[in-house]
Parts: sequence; structure tokens; C-alpha cells
Amino acid sequence: MNKKYFKLFANCKLVEGYKRSVIVDTQRNEIFHVSNSLIPILTSLNDSPIADVKITYESDDIQEYLDFLIANELGFYTDTPNLFTDIDTKWDSPDQITNAIIDYNKSSNYDFKHVFNTLDTVNCTTIQIRFFDRISWTFLLDILDLIKGKRISSVELLLKYNPEISFEDYRYLVQNYLRIKGMVIHGSPKDVVTRLATARNKEKFVYTDQTITDQTHCGIISTSLFAPTLLHHNESLYFNSCLHRKIGVDVNGNIKNCPTLEDSYGNIKEVSSLKEIVELASFQELWGVTKNQIDECKVCEYRTVCSDCRAHMSKDEIKTAKPKKCNYNPYEAKWF
Ligand code: SF4
Ligand code: SF4
Repeated sequence: MNKKYFKLFANCKLVEGYKRSVIVDTQRNEIFHVSNSLIPILTSLNDSPIADVKITYESDDIQEYLDFLIANELGFYTDTPNLFTDIDTKWDSPDQITNAIIDYNKSSNYDFKHVFNTLDTVNCTTIQIRFFDRISWTFLLDILDLIKGKRISSVELLLKYNPEISFEDYRYLVQNYLRIKGMVIHGSPKDVVTRLATARNKEKFVYTDQTITDQTHCGIISTSLFAPTLLHHNESLYFNSCLHRKIGVDVNGNIKNCPTLEDSYGNIKEVSSLKEIVELASFQELWGVTKNQIDECKVCEYRTVCSDCRAHMSKDEIKTAKPKKCNYNPYEAKWF
């Protein structure tokens, strides 16, 4: 190795935690745990030759660290570090609302056609529909047909297990409704996680024996839900990683930041556009609550890959408390 400098690949983001740190590879969507002692070394390597850094830190470990980073394809040696610029961390979207959660149970009496029309007024492209009670195959097809021609390009479905709908029926759905990006069938007699192939992709399909009766199930923090993507990393730096540009419609049609939160901004049945609602300062109040403002999360190495949850807590805690369903302690780097 004759090159003078070492650089992390621009897509690899270093996030320092209290007890340990991570490198988030936003291209391969992987997380690598590293020691905090690597942070000042990598910072120095940004603008100093390797030889100088080795003298400064008088550490034989440095080569071991570099070997680890090279072996895991997280960085590279170069003589011309200035030719490799960082990726901009700014986040923006042309869509006023990027994602929506729509809850439905047997008491719901709003009209899906109207919901999809109003979501179009704010350019919403990603939706999750959560059915807490069993629905029929024809009702499901009717709803999916209504999405055709809308801006919605990604649909996740949470469906109550219906013995009259077979695995082959679900396969038909993902193959014929290409906007479907995932399905969870709850209250099922079996637990199965698989992927169903479509013409373009393989979409996640889950049967779970857990029964989900209402919106209170939401808010779980788990490594399986981490999103090591550049979009998520960048958005988390400046905005709330759950509620930013989200809209929720609860089972009664109430328009909220998310169906679990208390504050309502009217009923979906009574509005033809969501524009004025989502532009309200009060509606956007939680959008700017970043992980850097939240107790414990601000020192957690997972703060740019983790989601967030502002529900299940008091008004006093809503801008500062760690998600109630997070069992990770960043001070000890342990899950409980
Ligand atoms: S704030 Fe919590 S309950 Fe609401 S959508 Fe996010 S994770 Fe779910
Ligand atoms: S403490 Fe929990 S909720 Fe906060 S960033 Fe870490 S894993 Fe996520």
C-alpha cells in the first residue's frame, strides 16, 4: 500500500454513539458497528496523510482499523482525496406529504375513493392501509382498483386473516397490482415470512399469528425495522423519522399526524383537499423533532437508521422522550 490517504466511501455515513458507533453503508443498506476510538482517527484521515495520523495517535491499531474498513469495502486508499467529495445530506421532496397511514375497521364508514382523491391533493405517493377486521376479497380488489390512476405508487397492506383468501390469491394480488410493496396478514394460524415475485421485484409477504386489533400496536422500535438508506439517513438528520410529511386517517376518518396521536385536524369525509391542513404550523409541529433532540436517542448510534414514535407519551414528553416501545439502551449498547 503506497497511497497516502484513506477515505470512507461517500455513501458510508459514520454515526457516533455514546458507547459505540456505526458506519451506515447507505448503498448496500448495511450497518457496521465500530469502536468510538475510530472516530477521531477517521476525522483526522479526512485531511491528513495516513503516516501523519499514525504518528499523532501512536497507535498500531490504526492499520488494523484500515484493514477492517478495506475488507468490508467501506473505504479506499487514494493519493487524491480532494477529488472525492461528500454526498450532500440535504433532504427535500416535491411532495407535500410523502406517506400516509389509513386505518379501517368494521365501524369505519368513510369512502376510499374520496380518501385517495384527497391524498392526491398533497401528492402523497406511499400509503399503508391497516385493516383491523376481516374484509372480503371483492372489497379488497375494489379498493386496489381505486388506486389505479392515482399518484400513489407504493402500497403496504395490513390485512386480517381471512380463510377464504388463499396464499395463491395474495400471489395474484402482488403480481397484478404492482403498487403493492408488502403485505402482512395478521391473526393468521401460522407465522411465515416470504417474498412473492412480481415482474419487477420480490415483495415482502408475512403471515403472523399476532392479532392486531387497533392502532396501538404501532411504534415498535426494532433492528428489523431499521432503514439504512441515504434518504432515511438524511431525512433523520433534519426531520422526525416517523412523522415528517406523514398524514394519518384513523378508523373514524379523523385526519391526524398519525392515527395513534390524539390531535385531529378535521374529518376526511368533510374535506376535499388536504392542502390547508398540512400547511398548518400546528400540523407540522412534530415534523422538526429530530433524534438529536430526543433523550437517549441523541447519543444512540442508530439515530439515523431507526424510526421514531411520538405516540404513547404525554404532551410534556412529546418533543423530548425516547419512544416508549424502544428497548435499547445506548449508554450500555444493549437491547433489553
Ligand atoms: S408516531 Fe408512533 S404510532 Fe404514530 S405512526 Fe409513528 S410509530 Fe406509529
Ligand atoms: S434509543 Fe431506541 S429509539 Fe432512540 S435511536 Fe436508539 S434505537 Fe432508536
